[in-house]
Amino acid sequence: MSSRIPGMRDLSISERRAVVAETAGIDVAELAAFDAGGFDGEAANQLSENVLGTFALPVGVAANLTVNGADVLVPMVTEEASVIAAASNGARIARVLGGFHTSSTGPIMQAQIQLVDVVDPHAARLRLLEARAELVELAAAQDPKLAEVGGGVRDLLVRTVGFEDQTYLVAHLVVDVRDAMGANAVNTMAEAVADRVAEIAGGRVVLRILTNKADMRLARARAVLDAEALGGPLVVDDMVHAYKLAAGDPYRAATHNKGIMNGISAVVLATGNDTRAVEAGAHSHAVGSAGRYTALSTFEKDADGNLVATLELPMPVGLVGGATKTHPGARAAVALTGVSSAAELAELITAVGLAQNIAALRVLASEGVQRGHMSLHAKNIAIAAGAGPDEVGPVVARLIADKAFGYDNAAAVLAELRRGR
Ligand code: NAD
Repeated sequence: MSSRIPGMRDLSISERRAVVAETAGIDVAELAAFDAGGFDGEAANQLSENVLGTFALPVGVAANLTVNGADVLVPMVTEEASVIAAASNGARIARVLGGFHTSSTGPIMQAQIQLVDVVDPHAARLRLLEARAELVELAAAQDPKLAEVGGGVRDLLVRTVGFEDQTYLVAHLVVDVRDAMGANAVNTMAEAVADRVAEIAGGRVVLRILTNKADMRLARARAVLDAEALGGPLVVDDMVHAYKLAAGDPYRAATHNKGIMNGISAVVLATGNDTRAVEAGAHSHAVGSAGRYTALSTFEKDADGNLVATLELPMPVGLVGGATKTHPGARAAVALTGVSSAAELAELITAVGLAQNIAALRVLASEGVQRGHMSLHAKNIAIAAGAGPDEVGPVVARLIADKAFGYDNAAAVLAELRRGR
């Protein structure tokens, strides 16, 4: 299968569904899960609280992605125009020299158990480590299903954390959560061992909860970008300059990383995963070893003058648990990707984040974002100015022709259009 589908933007939704289903090798009926937001009020009532209904966002598909030699179509849910076009664009450039190469650590999550009032924290730390086997066994007993699928508790770590006048002892349960995101799984374990941990350490337990700094669950993506496909050697050099500003300056790093998360959050959401968990993990990871917020990705020039991009970050996503199995839209999105493990999904999402980053950096280091972005955003401006369905097209065409995307111009163009009718 090829994820290269020229002309996809000109198709109707039903034509696009047919092409996408055929390309991905799934039944087009599966994509009906994307009708009217994917599920009805009753299903929504089960998923959250005090439910009033559902709140739909567009789900689209990014094209052109090649990951580890295989093409893949990627579902993305986003309210922001130009995100899906940019991801497809970055993927198109990357595929010239083979697309994305990915890897990941195991799906390891950690839960923290905070102890206060420990009189001898350093000795208590060693007492807990001496009891490692007992505590690991007690935690593991909470989730036989996890052991059955090859996961389970792998280790116990104990740290001391000092702040102001306090020294806290913090025990970490290190758990292989396989195809789950794992928050509930590890929280249950942390609560179950807390009393015994307090007994051994001789203090009192306060917090028992996972850490979203999932730095034992990293996913990585890398791509070599052809200098000519990027626009020439000057664009390569300027993309490196753009990266180095992000690496050195938190003001730029925040926006650089936001661009990465444009792609990542859209796939995380489409697959029913927890966007806040992934975002918290990403931004905590962006505080590098220097203790300063920096870029999540890197860009460097290789010996042939091509640009090499890399991205590594925590990617706690699952295929079981949470909304991943209960939201029909999420199930259809996962089916579209064809992934069969949480690790595979995590790597795919990381590749999309890097594709997004490549596209943003290329356009920023050359023509600037506004021309492309505003052309795609013009529809929203036209609608906000009051254009009806049959007026949006002509208003957008005029905004693009005028290169003037202000609301005032949209309102003036709309008034002129109506006067002419
Ligand atoms: P879950 O408890 O619904 O599912 C996980 C369980 O599924 C495992 O414990 C295991 O018993 C079972 N399972 C069956 N097949 C499995 C397989 N192949 N691999 C792994 N487990 C398998 O969900 P979860 O993943 O533990 O928790 C995710 C949810 O927790 C998300 O909805 C997230 O939003 C929420 N949450 C997040 C936070 C946070 O990030 N801080 C805190 C609390 C809850």
